[in-house]
Amino acid sequence: MKKIAVLTSGGDSPGMNAAIRAVVRKAIYHNIEVYGVYQGYLGLINDDIHKLELGSVGDTIQRGGTFLYSARCPEFKEKDVRAKGIENLRKRGIEGLVVIGGDGSYRGAQRISEECKDIQTIGIPGTIDNDINGTDFTIGFDTALNTIIDSVDKIRDTASSHARTFIIEVMGRDCGDLALWSGLAVGAETIITPETSYDMKDIAEKIQHGIDRGKKHSIIIVAEGCMTGDSCASELTKYINVDARVSVLGHIQRGGSPTGADRVLASRLGGYAVELLMSGDSAKGVGIKDNKLIATDFNTIFNGSSEVKYTQRMLDLTKELSI
Ligand code: ADP
Repeated sequence: MKKIAVLTSGGDSPGMNAAIRAVVRKAIYHNIEVYGVYQGYLGLINDDIHKLELGSVGDTIQRGGTFLYSARCPEFKEKDVRAKGIENLRKRGIEGLVVIGGDGSYRGAQRISEECKDIQTIGIPGTIDNDINGTDFTIGFDTALNTIIDSVDKIRDTASSHARTFIIEVMGRDCGDLALWSGLAVGAETIITPETSYDMKDIAEKIQHGIDRGKKHSIIIVAEGCMTGDSCASELTKYINVDARVSVLGHIQRGGSPTGADRVLASRLGGYAVELLMSGDSAKGVGIKDNKLIATDFNTIFNGSSEVKYTQRMLDLTKELSI
């Protein structure tokens, strides 16, 4: 392995820069040249590929977003378009490609390794949604979680001043992890996720019970993959007469300086991706399970149903703590 390339693709997440940095520094340490592909698969087909040096990743570990930029590139699903991208790697003698992104980005990498046996591919899970199989945590999840916590702590101040019920809609696509983790961390009265059932009448009764006990405010965290904050408010107010306000946190959840946990995770996974390429591995996604680095075949990552990353015990605890 003499030359590798790295790209970021799909939705960006805090910590992607730290992962790129780890790939670049680890590879150069082992005398491997590294190329950065700008704007994900779009840059791959447009030949927007440039050599990265040690200094290219200086002063990036603390920055959110991705200095390589990200893009959606639906045309990469077409074989003849991918052939252009593969040719751009081949003409530089690049033998390994690290793709940092989500499930869709992994599929692009899998196609490359199927169609071009002389280019190895490794995926690194970069998304705030924590919705990729083969890892307990994705890069960006912890930062987004902390952004939500910070926002809800602020909302709580105004909620209690006015004795309001606040409904906070958080991101996560079809995955409820951001809602569940943040709900536990802010002490929400109710957490609504796509994975668990809910009964709005029960939720309303619980909130009313809290008000009767003299609670100053209530916080409901709702995952975007389950319903919008607005529809949650209109369903809730069918059952109780509360001053329910909705806050949609939106894209602030994708930004910001990565937390320590995300920087360390990104650095470990970036370094591991290079180790796998050096040992001849391909078509795998890296991850962390029980604090151990693991690599899982793309096929296994795609074929399994979505991994549940919380335990029944954790779910029970959210109920026990929100009485
Ligand atoms: P994410 O990686 O965050 O899941 P997307 O689903 O938008 O984001 O995928 C990112 C990019 O990966 C797409 O814009 C496309 O270039 C590429 N991609 C997605 N699915 C496929 C596929 N089935 N085959 C080839 N490339 C794909």
